[in-house]
Amino acid sequence: MSVKSYANIVINRPIEGPFTYSIPDALKEDVKVGSCVEVSFGNKNVTGYVVDIIPKSEIENLKPVVRILDKAPLIDEKMMQLTKWISDYYYSSWGEAISAAVPAVLKKSLKSTRRRKVSHPEEEVEYKDGSDKHLRPNSEQTKALDSIKQCLDNFLHSVFLLHGVTGSGKTEVYLQSIAYALELGRSSIVLVPEISLTPQTVARFKARFGEKIAVLHSRLVGSKRANEWERIVSGEAQIVVGARSAIFAPLKNLGLVVVDEEHETSYKQEDVPRYNARDVAIKRAEFSNAVIILGSATPSLESFYAARAGNYTLIELPERIDSRLLPEVEIVDMRDEMARKKAVSIFSHTLKSWIQKDISENKQVILFLNRRGFSTFISCRKCGHVLTCKRCSVSLTYHFHTKKATCHHCGYKIDPPDICPECNSSYVKYWGIGTEKVESEVHRLFPNARIARMDTDATHKRGTHEKILSKFKDHKIDILVGTQMIAKGLDFPKVTLVGVISADTALNLPDFRSGERTFNLLTQVAGRAGRGDMGGRVIIQTYTPGHYSIQAAKNHDYNDFYGKEISFRKELNLPPFCRMALLTFRGRKEEKVLKAAESIREKLEKKNKRKLLEILGPAPAPISKIKGMYRWNLFLKSSKVESITAILRQVLQNRRREGGIIITVDVEPY
Ligand code: ADP
Ligand code: ZN
Ligand code: ZN
Repeated sequence: MSVKSYANIVINRPIEGPFTYSIPDALKEDVKVGSCVEVSFGNKNVTGYVVDIIPKSEIENLKPVVRILDKAPLIDEKMMQLTKWISDYYYSSWGEAISAAVPAVLKKSLKSTRRRKVSHPEEEVEYKDGSDKHLRPNSEQTKALDSIKQCLDNFLHSVFLLHGVTGSGKTEVYLQSIAYALELGRSSIVLVPEISLTPQTVARFKARFGEKIAVLHSRLVGSKRANEWERIVSGEAQIVVGARSAIFAPLKNLGLVVVDEEHETSYKQEDVPRYNARDVAIKRAEFSNAVIILGSATPSLESFYAARAGNYTLIELPERIDSRLLPEVEIVDMRDEMARKKAVSIFSHTLKSWIQKDISENKQVILFLNRRGFSTFISCRKCGHVLTCKRCSVSLTYHFHTKKATCHHCGYKIDPPDICPECNSSYVKYWGIGTEKVESEVHRLFPNARIARMDTDATHKRGTHEKILSKFKDHKIDILVGTQMIAKGLDFPKVTLVGVISADTALNLPDFRSGERTFNLLTQVAGRAGRGDMGGRVIIQTYTPGHYSIQAAKNHDYNDFYGKEISFRKELNLPPFCRMALLTFRGRKEEKVLKAAESIREKLEKKNKRKLLEILGPAPAPISKIKGMYRWNLFLKSSKVESITAILRQVLQNRRREGGIIITVDVEPY
């Protein structure tokens, strides 16, 4: 007679669990905590993760585990702890959190992934010579490294906020900290915002550490990803560089985590579990007694506030290496420009003449606008009718390349009408500028310049992104026009001029972080200029030249920006002074959506006797309809996330629906 045993299992569904299954004798040896198994749930077979093995169960006739999907447990104890934390904090089920931590390719059967050879190597970017050796740290870097090393020596968990302008030597600090951890036999994770946009950074890590590096990013095809994962598990790779999900890399003896550009919004996962990889990184480091370095030229308000409060150790690298000057920034008031010309123009006189000058001197120019397409809306001059998407509450953008009016939210496309569909007049006009229009204007104004555009439309095809960059690097392109795709990481010494076509696009968004976004983006874009010996200049065009975000960006003055922004946040009780969660209700019938939101609001109020929560709304979402679904929001504010999620759990009780309406919960939303 063998003793029966049971497994507590969670699944990748919005249902809390865990659920108990019996373990058949044949599987007893193999089913362990962390195993990935197949179980029957409802009337389907689904993937589940074993979170506990128990000798007894009160429940009779439990269903058995169908089979085991991977002999070696996929998730170790620390990862169990981390995914549990994620599910509690970000309001997902534990199964959903584990599922996010394990790459899809490993969740299928063992057979399909075992020992596949890499079929095609990744496109590589070379990094300049000499990067394989450590540089001699300057005094600021030495100070930083000393404190980091001390924590590593003593197995102390500690959060460092490394604040330094671009080119101040942050990356060199990361590299040497990693090398030190390696000497102590400890592994490292480096998170970068979007790996496809930072090929130079990755190349630099490879140059220094070679085969010890594994790179994880979303574009990796399944087999290659499984391969990198295996190299990490086997201990061959001890340093992992990757985007968001690399924080789940199965490294042992984690000593150091680096989050580069810690303020970046791309660290936030848009799907369940809606985690912020920066904050998960802090937790993972904490659970491993590891050091974590958050690096940025423009730290998030949250991180800088925590550093000021003494929760993080602030390290400042105030100057560029070799004291190279930051580019000169000039603000052009487009209101004056408009008054003078009596018309809206894309290029101010100032920007035009600088472009002319620089390309005639054989230098390179970057022009930045965070909107793609040709015209951003089409409307009738007679009746004011605006062409909008049939399914979303947004105006259609005209794309010259396809000659279509397109919805940027659902892809809906139509031929733009010559005659107004409302009043039949022929006064249909195209307004607003996108990158396509900028590109065409540049062609018109500078017919002899070699011009390229980089945005998601232009880089649709695999490899075009790299191609454009390498042409720009070889100076086969004089002027590069692009969206925020070109704002990050690019390091081209011949770029002497950066023009921001409009600083106001981000500023006008209905979001309390719009000031912060604008400051970050402008600072980042400005950092593309003057990286060589020829110096650099940035021209920012704006209709709101007095805004503190723009002024602070002009003066490269983070502290000034921080001071103004933090008092604004304090006054309105916004993060970092409170924690927030956003509940979105969506459905095809607007009355039902609103009713569901109101009903949840009432239930929340009832549980909120101690007034731990501030409940705002329901209010229509900024884009009130997407793909035919109406959207209404509730905002919850509190001093602690735990107070919000505790009440939510009582009210929603394992469901994410109300009256047939889908509810999504986003904790600390962006
Ligand atoms: P950041 O990450 O802050 O942008 P980097 O670490 O990339 O700064 O440094 C900027 C440039 O200065 C790089 O080319 C780097 O190789 C160089 N550099 C960094 N630290 C030193 C140093 N201690 N001595 C000489 N050059 C350095
Ligand atoms: Zn009309
Ligand atoms: Zn649409």
